[in-house]
Amino acid sequence: MDDLAVLGGVPALGHTLRPYRSIGEEERLAVDRVMRSGVLSGFVGAWCADFWGGPEIRAFEAAWCDTFQCRYAISVNSNTSGMIAALGAVGVGPGDEVIVPPYTMSATAMAPLFYGGVPVFVDIEPETFCLDPAAVEAAISPRTRAIMAVNLFGHPAALSALRAVADRRGIYLIEDNAQGPLATEDGAYCGTIGHIGVFSLNYHKHIHTGEGGVCTTNDEGLAKRMAAIRNHAENVPTELGLTDLTNLVGFNFRMTELSAAIGIEQLKKVEALVAGRERIADRMTAALRDLPGLLPPLVRPNCRHVYYVWAMRYDEAAMGMPRDVFSRALAAEGFPVSQGYVEPLYMLPAFQKRIAIGRDGFPFTLSNRSYAAGLCPVAERMHRKELVEFHICSYEVDDAETDALIAAIRKVHAGRADLKRLNA
Ligand SMILES: *Cc1c(COP(=O)(O)O)cnc(C)c1O
Repeated sequence: MDDLAVLGGVPALGHTLRPYRSIGEEERLAVDRVMRSGVLSGFVGAWCADFWGGPEIRAFEAAWCDTFQCRYAISVNSNTSGMIAALGAVGVGPGDEVIVPPYTMSATAMAPLFYGGVPVFVDIEPETFCLDPAAVEAAISPRTRAIMAVNLFGHPAALSALRAVADRRGIYLIEDNAQGPLATEDGAYCGTIGHIGVFSLNYHKHIHTGEGGVCTTNDEGLAKRMAAIRNHAENVPTELGLTDLTNLVGFNFRMTELSAAIGIEQLKKVEALVAGRERIADRMTAALRDLPGLLPPLVRPNCRHVYYVWAMRYDEAAMGMPRDVFSRALAAEGFPVSQGYVEPLYMLPAFQKRIAIGRDGFPFTLSNRSYAAGLCPVAERMHRKELVEFHICSYEVDDAETDALIAAIRKVHAGRADLKRLNA
């Protein structure tokens, strides 16, 4: 066997991977078209035809509905703004609880705070890293207004189970689908199984428009409320036929014509881009299934995983050494490995010190929900001990490079006795 690179041997992957790039000539031409029109945004924040945005926005939203098979798509300037609009639309108010997973990008848990909502952290399933529906049901209280499920790493959360819980309890299911474009559960697209889905179009996602996001829904009332919150809601409730003024204090969350024009071209490529991620992931998973101590990502049989991240679980007892030793050896082989994803979000200073909006602890003063360490043991274990990930969405990887990534993992796995000795 070859020597491990960490012990002075030759790395399995001899070069750094090219960064992922989804933008090409088509997007350049689309931007040029908008530049020549001189109209870089078509929105007007008052009642008129342009309340709904310019021609690129409208074409982009129509294409989005077509691709993701939903009735309404409301473009916004980020997933973060989209989640605020979604929570506003479903009527979250001061002291209302919103159930969120702790293992996600921070914005998922911060969005409720802007309406005085209190994030309630519920643990994840170890197999998918997504919200555990039984734990969600147990956490629902009379104050719960919504569940924010995250389709983490591109695998669907248990969405139909969560939707059933939400419907039974008369609350809303919102999907943070930033990482899951074209992921499916039982043939339905993620982002369309909850009452609202929120996508991200930031630079790091499968497709992007620089910054951007889209809210999807099949509910006309929610679509109107989100379109209102996006664009100075206070000016238009009467014209939109909205009699309930709750949360109709609007923002400017509007996307530009430039971003929408890019988005139209990106949408044409999304299936091919996602299929490329799947191809790499499937090849890695198939080649690594048999290694004791390493568990490649699980895909539920009724689901499509779109691999924002390819994440495996590390079994310290079976491997006989801490994850960190393994990760360092893998990194030395040229594998761009990360470990642990994010610290469970309740450990952020805002929750630990209970300071968010204003100086006096609002909205935490309205709740006695705990943010103590130990709250979500599965998420904590994934963060500290088990998760080892490859940010598959960040790189262009061909078959030969995929095989080199596989060889790197197999090599470190095979050399674990040497590693153990070194670290004894
Ligand atoms: C990227 C991401 C966000 C934030 O998206 P923006 O468009 O940058 O606001 C939110 N949630 C998850 C899970 C993400 O991956």
